[in-house]
Amino acid sequence: DQDVVETYRSGYVALLGRPNVGKSTLLNHLVGQKISITAPRPQTTRDQILGILTRPDGQALFLDTPGVHSGYRSLNRHLLRATRGALESADLGVLVVEALAWTADDSEALRWLQRSGIPLLAVVNKIDKIKTKERLFPYLQSLSERADFVAVIPLSARKTGDVERLADVLIPLLPLSEAVFPEDQVTDRNMRFMAAEIIREQIFRQLGAELPYDTAVAIDSYQVENGQQRIEATIYCRRSGQKAIILGEGGSRLRVIGSRAREALQQLTEERVWLGLWVKQKEQWTDDPHILRELGYDD
Ligand code: GDP
Ligand code: MG
Repeated sequence: DQDVVETYRSGYVALLGRPNVGKSTLLNHLVGQKISITAPRPQTTRDQILGILTRPDGQALFLDTPGVHSGYRSLNRHLLRATRGALESADLGVLVVEALAWTADDSEALRWLQRSGIPLLAVVNKIDKIKTKERLFPYLQSLSERADFVAVIPLSARKTGDVERLADVLIPLLPLSEAVFPEDQVTDRNMRFMAAEIIREQIFRQLGAELPYDTAVAIDSYQVENGQQRIEATIYCRRSGQKAIILGEGGSRLRVIGSRAREALQQLTEERVWLGLWVKQKEQWTDDPHILRELGYDD
């Protein structure tokens, strides 16, 4: 096994740029899904959105940041900390700018990236808006003179092919490392854990004193499609009596748990939620490595 050559790459990538250049659009197209679920109000709710792109050659973990602009002094500390945090954990920085539209805010974003000392890529977005492509060349040239970019990549964040070419350049720049997240996951675990917590909370509320304390909620899949969150979850319990209690007569209690949890999730995400809920009795669920991994106890 000495012949095995490690080639898989994985690392954190900070996306920086002034507001409206297309960072979120780029992120969503990179991971192939709208992942705004983790931050219904991106400016206030969370420090940063983590977008996960998994390919056969590597895994890129994108940190979306609040838009950087020169009026930073007036922004709250929270946003500053979020951007700083993203840069501190990043292996690679991506400056996102708009074609033919350089402003002082772009300079500010670039300064932030340069201070971090990580390797930098420049993405020149919205080239679809430029009718005369010749005008792009001098712009790309001047951009490449502003900093020591590994590459300057013109693209349209809305075009899948363009975004894939960006990934082709980006992944080889990440450190040699194993994948950090499971391959089907497009964002970090907080939303999955929140969903499990919300379901668990409803089990608590609906069962009261009857609560079988050794139940667990596993999120089997979590997908976002067309503005709808599609969540499938399993409630594990250890004894068949517990299963009957959770189900209730004709499944009535499970339906209440499901609909209340769905409402809470909808409120949290501000999107439509479809929730599929199952109950499984498995005496030894605490010893089942598959279930434990599903629950996030894999290390
Ligand atoms: P952010 O503030 O940097 O996250 O920017 P958004 O991703 O929210 O995008 C701002 C606006 O630019 C939105 O209306 C997007 O639809 C639009 N946009 C993003 N990428 C492109 C692109 O490649 N071409 C064009 N024409 N518009 C884009
Ligand atoms: Mg955004």
